[in-house]
Amino acid sequence: MQEAHHFIGNRWVAPAQEQTIPVLDPSDGQPFAVLARGSAADIDAAVQAARAACEAAWGNSSAAERSRVLFRLAALLAEQQDALAHIEARDTGKPLKQARADAAAVVRYFEFYAGAADKLHGQTIPYQTGYTVLTLREPHGVTGHIIPWNYPLQIFGRSVGAALAAGNACVVKPAEDACLSLLKLAELAQQAGLPDGALNIVTGYGHEAGAALARHPGIDHISFTGSPQTGKLVTQMAAENHVPVTLELGGKSPQIVFADADMDAVLPVVVNAIVQNAGQTCSAGSRLLVERSAYEPLLDRLGQAFEALQVGPAMLDLDCGPLISAKQQQRVWDFLSDAQHDGIAMLAHGQVVPEAPEAGFYQAPTLLRDVPPSHRLAREEVFGPVLAAMPFEQESDALQLANGTPFGLVAGIWTRDGARQLRLARRLRSGQVFINNYGAGGGVELPFGGVKHSGHGREKGFEALYGFTTLKTIAIRHD
Ligand code: NAD
Repeated sequence: MQEAHHFIGNRWVAPAQEQTIPVLDPSDGQPFAVLARGSAADIDAAVQAARAACEAAWGNSSAAERSRVLFRLAALLAEQQDALAHIEARDTGKPLKQARADAAAVVRYFEFYAGAADKLHGQTIPYQTGYTVLTLREPHGVTGHIIPWNYPLQIFGRSVGAALAAGNACVVKPAEDACLSLLKLAELAQQAGLPDGALNIVTGYGHEAGAALARHPGIDHISFTGSPQTGKLVTQMAAENHVPVTLELGGKSPQIVFADADMDAVLPVVVNAIVQNAGQTCSAGSRLLVERSAYEPLLDRLGQAFEALQVGPAMLDLDCGPLISAKQQQRVWDFLSDAQHDGIAMLAHGQVVPEAPEAGFYQAPTLLRDVPPSHRLAREEVFGPVLAAMPFEQESDALQLANGTPFGLVAGIWTRDGARQLRLARRLRSGQVFINNYGAGGGVELPFGGVKHSGHGREKGFEALYGFTTLKTIAIRHD
């Protein structure tokens, strides 16, 4: 891996404009690395390299050959798991144990998609007498991947892993705030023998390299993961070339807890779902809806759990690390200051440990109670460790509250009543529903994505392979 270089056509390439971007360590706010600042010229070079790959070795490879090279990459990722976890922890600020889980997940993604590559196939369709009709699943060609900073390894795995398995050549624009693990991964892809141009990574700012990728006429499909605002921009740019876009956006995911739930099971999962990655998780369980009769007892226990949470530098490996940047910290502070201004009660918060450097971007996990459903804290994504709790009277109210935001990514239902579990699961407008558990972060095999402002299209699982292919119908007349 070479600092401040892009990875284009299997080589480390200096940025056309010779400019760099400093990378800050969120744990102490200090610069510790630099990235190449990509421009439209770098994106163009990457798209050309990817197109050439489609027309050469990669495009002509059999599914079994693709499977083999992706298995080799999975094995190298497994060998380098610890190094990748350390890079990810420092770069994103997440506690080391969480970064280790991410590194394990990227191995699983590549194993899963390596195994799936030669199991993806079309169908034959019964048609009129004298015809045979079949469908072929073909790669789009050159796929663009715009990746956020919160889970670089995982999101690369689920998006690029699936796209490569399906036979596409990829141009990746990772986030400027954190993407060093992906440059390490590119080095491993080189070692694994991925053909020239199958994988290209151009680092840089969103409005420069990201926008150049979204509007490039040589791209055949875009997978975007990030904020709803940027998702809309990317869709508009891609529409100029009629390029299909998969959008994985934000969420305001509810956990619905009924009084008959096993509260010992609920408690740690609810805490983890908002504290993991300092709440900077699209599928964070950021709203807690509790049946009135169980509300006070559960909040008492949750308050104690929040007070015991420790926040500090990634390498101290505590419950929670810093936020990614000063900008993100300010965003969370703005939400909390609105809560204070509007009289929303803060029930409990965790502690930032004394060893945490002053200049790090820390925010203690915070539990707010009785948040009015119409307040922005109950409707908008904070993207920080802030849990908004509110009571409900009956099942129909819970459903209305749960569905009452612009988002629809993940939902959790906690009850022992089987009929209620299924009734609610069917009525929730959400891409994933977890019953008596919650954990969209895991589950490489499980299709993931949203409805409404949470996006459209599915990644993860076998389903992703359909998204990264296009279907061709062939009708043969033979009488
Ligand atoms: P963001 O939208 O600002 O950035 C995401 C990516 O888009 C980055 O690589 C960025 O450089 C790029 N980008 C920014 N402006 C661009 C532009 N004009 N044109 C093209 N690309 C551009 O989001 P973020 O702040 O990095 O991430 C936080 C958001 O992402 C949250 O809303 C979160 O919920 C969402 N997210 C969703 C998922 C999911 O799977 N649904 C996963 C992670 C994050």
